[in-house]
Amino acid sequence: MLRFAPSPTGDMHIGNLRVALFNYIVSKQRNESLLIRIEDTDKERNIEGKDKEILEILGIFGIEYKELMYQSNNLRFHSMMALQLLHEKKAFNCFCKPETLEKKREEAKEAKKAYRYDGACENLPAELVIDNLNPFVVRLKKPQEAITIKDLIKGEITFSPDDIDSFIIMRQDKTPTYNFACSVDDMLADISLVIRGEDHVSNTPKQIAIRDALGYDKKMEYAHLPIILNDEGKKMSKRDNASSVKWMFEEGYLPSAIANYLILIGNKPPKEIFTLEEAIEWFDIHSISKAPARFDLDKLKFINKEHLRLLDAKELSRYVGFADDDIGEVAKIFLDEVSTLKELRAKIAPIFAPKEIPEEFSEQAATMQEIIKNAPHFEEFEAFKTHIIEQSGLKGKNFFKPLRLLLTGAEHGPELADIYPFLKNYIKEIVK
Ligand code: GLU
Repeated sequence: MLRFAPSPTGDMHIGNLRVALFNYIVSKQRNESLLIRIEDTDKERNIEGKDKEILEILGIFGIEYKELMYQSNNLRFHSMMALQLLHEKKAFNCFCKPETLEKKREEAKEAKKAYRYDGACENLPAELVIDNLNPFVVRLKKPQEAITIKDLIKGEITFSPDDIDSFIIMRQDKTPTYNFACSVDDMLADISLVIRGEDHVSNTPKQIAIRDALGYDKKMEYAHLPIILNDEGKKMSKRDNASSVKWMFEEGYLPSAIANYLILIGNKPPKEIFTLEEAIEWFDIHSISKAPARFDLDKLKFINKEHLRLLDAKELSRYVGFADDDIGEVAKIFLDEVSTLKELRAKIAPIFAPKEIPEEFSEQAATMQEIIKNAPHFEEFEAFKTHIIEQSGLKGKNFFKPLRLLLTGAEHGPELADIYPFLKNYIKEIVK
């Protein structure tokens, strides 16, 4: 089983989405199920409704999953296993006061040494532990030996016992820390491969140490995805608009194009434009680059345009807010000029909106408007054009400019002869 484990603490970031897509693809390739685990144990940081939003986004991208669970439902297992570790003396209660630890951390900093827990509570006599009324946390004893992970992307990485340290698994309020809950839950779900962002690399040996201590000897594979950098070469943060999936939707990027783009970066696909389902055929998690991927909006725009071209008239019409194949055909013609749905809507909506005609052409437009309102239906643009010319006596710029403005609401655009066949049934509505 593979898993995607989002925290409902903020908007879905493209980095998270990339992790979800990769987990989905690999689960399909390996014929294993995908579990979605909402990591909701940090009550203070949870945001109401974010879980639903994340699931909705997964649905939009066609990321199907077999199981959905909320981490908070496993709290009893986390407590039970912490007790087991305490009982087996693989973990210990730590009564150190936060101020004391902070002081030691400062001292280490001044001495230019990496801070490590000094083991103060590790060997307290039993009576001191039992009779102690002070608040405490539970720490896992640091492992005796180094832990090596064989990352499918990064290769082998070894962590010394000191890198892992005697870290906290249960907080004072008896809730599990992220590392503890995550490690136990991965074990309970029999996860075979963990694909996640590289910001978690240093958590991995801790999570392995937890399972080692619990006596779980099945090995999990790991693949840590390099971060995505913005165009300044810095880690993409919430401040980069393009980092939010919601923003991408608002800007008019198609889910299929976003997925295509996120699978493409840092990868060597056999072709540039593909669907998620196609990627399952050739995707290889081992060939993801170790180097950070760089976000390139122009590339995303190019890919989006190609995906817009793949839509048929019906789909395109729905995306621009109409339910008519003819409008979809008009939209197709406008695709040459745009890269996103937002830009496309900005071309299509003015066709049906009241027109603002510049002063210079207002008179000609008014004349034309009257003629068109009273004109019979014309199948062909030529006949339509000839009729207006005959009735108005207008020609050249004085004819074409106002006509274009009346039909499209814009001064420039595709050949009117190309769009007329799809607008002819709405002409009176358009020039009203
Ligand atoms: N909830 C963690 C996150 O969103 C999960 C990391 C993991 O996949 O283990 O970063």
